[in-house]
Amino acid sequence: MTEKLYDQNSYIEEFDCKVISLYKESGDLYIETDRTAFFPEGGGQLSDTGYLGNLYVKDVQNKCGKIFHIVENYEENVENLEIGTVLHGKIDMKRRFSFMQQHSGEHIFSGIVHKLYGYDNVGFHLGLETVTLDFNGVLEYDDVCKVETLVNETVWKNLEIKAFYPSEEELASIDYRSKKEIDEALRLVEIPGVDICACCAPHVKTTGEIGIIEVVSFEKYKGGTRLSILCGDRALKDIRKKLDQNKQIGNLLSAKETETFAMVQKVKNDCGKLNFELGAARLENLRLKAEQIEESEKIVVFCSLSDTASLREYADILSHKAKLFVAAFGGSDDDYKYVIITQSDYNVSSLCKELNSRFSGRGGGRGNIVQGSLKGSEKEINSFFSEK
Ligand SMILES: [Zn+2]
Repeated sequence: MTEKLYDQNSYIEEFDCKVISLYKESGDLYIETDRTAFFPEGGGQLSDTGYLGNLYVKDVQNKCGKIFHIVENYEENVENLEIGTVLHGKIDMKRRFSFMQQHSGEHIFSGIVHKLYGYDNVGFHLGLETVTLDFNGVLEYDDVCKVETLVNETVWKNLEIKAFYPSEEELASIDYRSKKEIDEALRLVEIPGVDICACCAPHVKTTGEIGIIEVVSFEKYKGGTRLSILCGDRALKDIRKKLDQNKQIGNLLSAKETETFAMVQKVKNDCGKLNFELGAARLENLRLKAEQIEESEKIVVFCSLSDTASLREYADILSHKAKLFVAAFGGSDDDYKYVIITQSDYNVSSLCKELNSRFSGRGGGRGNIVQGSLKGSEKEINSFFSEK
């Protein structure tokens, strides 16, 4: 059985160990050692990575109670490796410390949600970039803000985080989260006054090392809530990215960084007004154009209008000039919207069907108006109508 150094001390970065078994599988080499500081994947957390001698350990897995370090592309570096070989291990501490920050942050978060709302964390995933927590109850925006404040206040208190193996008698009197039937001795992680939870992972020594806990998103999920949080280094990177984006928006709009929202809102309103004015001006222009069009049996016109409502208005103005129908097309070749109006009893519905079938169009209508969209060029469409 491998001695779990990470269990006694989360900060052991380098260690010496002896190979106690090894085997090859699917091009990888699996190495079991008498002791290890590598945390194997488990409890929703990815494994540590690092080196055993000059071999890169890409993954560590717990298989039937045995911990295996998995090495790929090992052939050239594996000379003289056999049972009894002594290796120097070195874990990627940057990755590990980030995992510790995320994991300890998650315990505080889940502990406080449990205390305040009675919800359990029923799903936890700690990946390379994201940390997700699923609770079996609904948290609204105000709840999430409240918890986010409380978890950060817990960080600032710099509480000591303790991991220990209680005796059976002790365990009977402790109320802890994440009760599961496990064969191995139960390990508890305690953050005094905040949380006690069964857990096998390495944690930071004090809550202050987490730095900051940020809720990135939350959504309703399977009748409960799924939250995405970031702690420590990941939260810092995320906040920096968002601040940088805000700064760039401020630069573009010549707004102070605290006033970008108001400025974006103003630009959006201005755009809305301008679009409205542009639409009205376009329509006025079309009205003037319509005056130039002479009365005829059928009128087919093309314009740049991109919204069906304006197109409809234009066709309506023209329809009084056409004995049979007016067909107005808005857009550009291969992407036209159309409106066809008749002021007589001309069957525009069947015309519409024919048009759609010829030009892969969609649309229809009732009575004297049909509308839709199609793909075709002005030339092809004109040629279609010349046959009508
Ligand atoms: Zn845990």
